[in-house]
Amino acid sequence: MRLTTLTDEARIALANIGDFAAGFVAPSLRLGVTGLSRAGKTVFITALVHNLVKGGRLPLFEPVSRGRLARSFLEPQPDDAVPRFDYEAHVERLVAERLWPDSTRRISELRVTIEFESARYFARTLGRGRLHLDIVDYPGEWLLDLPLLAKGFAEWSAEAVALSRLEYRAALAARWRAALAETDPLGPEDETAARRLAALFTDYLRAARADEHALSTLPPGRFLMPGDLEGSPALTFSPLDLPAGVAVPPRSLAAMMERRYEAYKDVVVRPFFRDHFARLDRQIVLVDALQALNAGPAAVADLGQALSDILACFRPGRASWLSSILTRRVDRILFAATKADHLHRTSHDRLEAILGRLVRGAMEKAAFAGAEVDVVALAAVRATREAIVTRDGEKLPAILGVPLPGEGLGGEVFDGKEEIAIFPGDLPSDPDSLFQVLESMREGPESKSQPAVAPAPDVEFVRFRPPRLERTAEGLTLSLPHIRLDRVLQFLLGDRLT
Ligand code: GDP
Repeated sequence: MRLTTLTDEARIALANIGDFAAGFVAPSLRLGVTGLSRAGKTVFITALVHNLVKGGRLPLFEPVSRGRLARSFLEPQPDDAVPRFDYEAHVERLVAERLWPDSTRRISELRVTIEFESARYFARTLGRGRLHLDIVDYPGEWLLDLPLLAKGFAEWSAEAVALSRLEYRAALAARWRAALAETDPLGPEDETAARRLAALFTDYLRAARADEHALSTLPPGRFLMPGDLEGSPALTFSPLDLPAGVAVPPRSLAAMMERRYEAYKDVVVRPFFRDHFARLDRQIVLVDALQALNAGPAAVADLGQALSDILACFRPGRASWLSSILTRRVDRILFAATKADHLHRTSHDRLEAILGRLVRGAMEKAAFAGAEVDVVALAAVRATREAIVTRDGEKLPAILGVPLPGEGLGGEVFDGKEEIAIFPGDLPSDPDSLFQVLESMREGPESKSQPAVAPAPDVEFVRFRPPRLERTAEGLTLSLPHIRLDRVLQFLLGDRLT
């Protein structure tokens, strides 16, 4: 692995000095928001900022419950070269059109300044406290690229080929594997072959990500989330089935792929980590755990693996390139299971417990220590209400909401106007029962003969429209309703607003 250049270190140090100098005026906190595509990043940031700026209902956020939050407002962000998070357009779509905003495709940033009355006597005498909260939104796919920095092309290829042979991936990777089998990696370099393999490899990654499989571990991240690199040659490579222990001849297909793989690391992965990741103070990782639970045990196991890969990024080894440029340390990481409004309240704690189990396992695997880690089940925007519905004399907890136009359930297709009640089903009260099945799956061929108990709980899914916002008697529109956003704020910001 190539070490960082002096320029890298100088640049990051300068950036941090800049941040620090600006901090004399008012301290700032850089909060990273990440998660795989459709995990809920855009909706989360929009709802978080809306609730701060509009004075939302946040009883568990201490500065609000103590009446110390004076006001929050948007200000120009500190980094001119990063696109701004399009907050206003997203709010307009959510609130006025009652449709979900466009999802994250690349990095963006937004600054919210929070003014508060300090609880501390000395600080109080100096006047109001101020905190600049710089929110950095970036695709989780990019984060999962970090482990590539420590791997050469041969090692990465061997791992990718081995992974594609696993039972639950083999069918998805079949066309790519067939093309690999026809390719001589040590033969002459060939642009057409490179493009074909790259396209088939990308198709495989995309299929693995689709709803019904919901797999999580899929580098290189830019193949799925290219940002500004869409269609560029930096993405035209693929792992190869290399014979072990054979030197790669110059001008061979393998040499060409290796060159592009290294270029990808140099021009894509390193700059992202140096310019953005290395400057974060805190991180929230959004996880669509319900989607993985619905897709089945392979998706849940794969999510566990992705979480441990993510945690490893926050605890880089001493000798690694990243630790040499990290001058700030992320001191709090929150893992959040999103879209909890698809469940009845009775299952929110259960969802949190399941995520907690996954994160604990990931922490053990990554031997993680050094930052405070917590988990939460949340809905950034609560699109449903709860009710008790009587069916055949039995009282059942249900959720009420307006399904998006075109959504269907049990043969019925909805028009986007009518409110329906559904019984979302329950998550298991004991998360262990779920994980026992996963364990038995890992135990190898003998256990395959046992009937695989589907750990997927009985959760029914319909995508709902965002809620209609209520108005006060004075005609003011209230902020977006949510589930546990206040707990999130308390964990991520509470100690910085004292
Ligand atoms: P991103 O790719 O991580 O930016 O994901 P988005 O924030 O765009 O969310 C993807 C989709 O998930 C949205 O279009 C919504 O359908 C759904 N979603 C996200 N957050 C919530 C939530 O809090 N409640 C509900 N009901 N749906 C949500």
